[in-house]
Amino acid sequence: MWIIIYDKNHHALEKREKELECIYRVSDLFDMHLPISSLLKGIIQRLPNAFLYSDVAVSCIILDGKEYKSDNFKINSHTLFSDIIVNGNKRGSVNISYCEERPMHDMGPFLKEEQRLLDVITSRLCKVLERKYVEEALLDSERRHRLIFDASPIGIFVDKKGVITHCNKSFLKIFKLSHNDVMGANIFDYLDDKRLCKVFLGSSEKHLPFYENEYSAIVYGSEVYLRSYYVPIRSREDTSEGGIGLIADITANKNYEDELQNQKELLTSTFNALQDLIIVVDRNMRIVTSNWKSEEMSMPQQPGAHPDLFECFGHNLMPCDPCPVKKVFSTGNMTEFEYEDPVDKKTRDFRIFPVHDTKGDVVMAVSHIRDITVRKQTEEALKKSTVELEKAYEDLKSLDKLKDEFLSNLRHELNTPLTSIKGFSELLHECALGPLNEKQMDAIERVVAKSYKLQHLIDSLLFVSVNQNGTLKYNFEKIDIFSLLKDTVNCFVDRSIEKKITIHTDITFDSCFIEADRTYINQIFLNLLDNAVKFTDHGGNVTLEAFEEANAVHIVIGDSGIGISESNIPGLFRKFYQIDSSSTRNYGGNGLGLYISKIIVESHKGQIWIESEKGKGTDVHVLLPFEQKKNHTSPRPYPARYDKPILG
Ligand code: ADP
Repeated sequence: MWIIIYDKNHHALEKREKELECIYRVSDLFDMHLPISSLLKGIIQRLPNAFLYSDVAVSCIILDGKEYKSDNFKINSHTLFSDIIVNGNKRGSVNISYCEERPMHDMGPFLKEEQRLLDVITSRLCKVLERKYVEEALLDSERRHRLIFDASPIGIFVDKKGVITHCNKSFLKIFKLSHNDVMGANIFDYLDDKRLCKVFLGSSEKHLPFYENEYSAIVYGSEVYLRSYYVPIRSREDTSEGGIGLIADITANKNYEDELQNQKELLTSTFNALQDLIIVVDRNMRIVTSNWKSEEMSMPQQPGAHPDLFECFGHNLMPCDPCPVKKVFSTGNMTEFEYEDPVDKKTRDFRIFPVHDTKGDVVMAVSHIRDITVRKQTEEALKKSTVELEKAYEDLKSLDKLKDEFLSNLRHELNTPLTSIKGFSELLHECALGPLNEKQMDAIERVVAKSYKLQHLIDSLLFVSVNQNGTLKYNFEKIDIFSLLKDTVNCFVDRSIEKKITIHTDITFDSCFIEADRTYINQIFLNLLDNAVKFTDHGGNVTLEAFEEANAVHIVIGDSGIGISESNIPGLFRKFYQIDSSSTRNYGGNGLGLYISKIIVESHKGQIWIESEKGKGTDVHVLLPFEQKKNHTSPRPYPARYDKPILG
């Protein structure tokens, strides 16, 4: 009997010892700073030891729907459990079962005290969980704040009485520093903010809730623009504890702002410098902007005000009824028109453009106004003078026609009697009508010479008339230019002897064929040699040089005569042009020789030009190609040919 009592007591003591050991070991876990999952796993391992049949006891903790359990754990009708209640909310339970059947006691296989033990451990767990949740929330919050602190593009520093205790990467980047440089340093070693320095030093006396400044500083030799904010922290005793500062590098913004400002000023000055008037109005006809000039528009009463478009007109600059600007708003189309101001009588050109927003609605209208009064007057004057010119041209054309008709008639009227004069005077000269004495012969020689001169004049006039009608035709054939030039020079032998002029010929070929019209080509050299002899005084020299040049023959007829001044050369090839009509009286002529020569040369695809110096002499150059592309075979309307030399 004693033995039994001893056994029972002994057994109860043993049981109590196991319970205490379990509580002790679980409490160990609570004191360790374990994550919740490790804590729960530890409890599951240690809890079964405290129960009567600890070798088959298995446990399980369910928390927020998640299970942490020993192997073989199963809930059965005898499972002991205790609810986990955190901050008044049921979040799960702690459970204990036997995985094999055991004798039944008062509550099943478990003892009554064992439920109490489970409740004690669970209630301790609940308290620990409550603390852990708070800790986790705090850690999470700290993590988030650290993230913000480090990731912030703005430099952040925390100082304690002027000594930096914390700073983020952006702060180090702005000042190009390392973390070790900064920690424990004085904030004003880096911050060149004099205003903040003053505020900072005085902040122990004065309550300063917030400070903000913008300034330029030199960091490693380059100028940077910084914006700083500072929030002082004050103790309960109202002493300065330091503060939190934010530093932003706004150099890029500042440069961008400066650039924008420059662009704006440039645009404004360009806009204001425009000669044309520009007015931008909104849908309420209020002027948004304009480069108006006071003489055209009355200025608004208050500077910067947006007056109504029509309040600003000095007079009726723009028609009001119907208003073209309103039309642009209603139609959405650009309009342009001219309008004469009834007051100042100025004519202006208007172009009004719609300005659309992103939705396509017309939000503004831009009027571009240009004073075109002078242009209008010039146009009117031009119109008038064009009409006058057209009339003068018509008059001239009819006069020209009359002249052509007159020349044509004149040739006919002159040729008929001239043919008789020439015929009879030649008969007389040849003594066909009987012998003549010396005086008579002299007289008849003069008549013959003058009649040829007259014939030349009539032929020249006819050439001009036929050329103008466009009916001049050429008959090209192969001509030996050598013999043609020799024959032409021979025509001037008598006259050169008469004036004691020496004619030098220098032709560098014996024969040279070109395609030309025999009659007209001859005419060129007759005219040019005639001028050379005519404008050279007694005892002077005339030269004729000819040489081949590429696919052409180049002929130069020179003289040592009176020469031509440079200013007169450009006009020489004009019809009837004579340099000095009074001196021409001495030399004779009609001003057609060079004009006709140029027409003939160009009809042969050649060129003619003059080089001369007043008082020294003249060189006339003729360049004639060897071949012509077309052969004009149509009959010649004018068979002008000089059988005899033209005499001066
Ligand atoms: P004109 O019958 O008057 O000679 P041209 O057409 O042959 O008509 O010449 C026009 C004018 O050019 C001449 O009146 C003369 O003033 C000037 N002129 C032409 N050739 C010479 C020259 N060799 N020397 C000086 N002046 C010349």
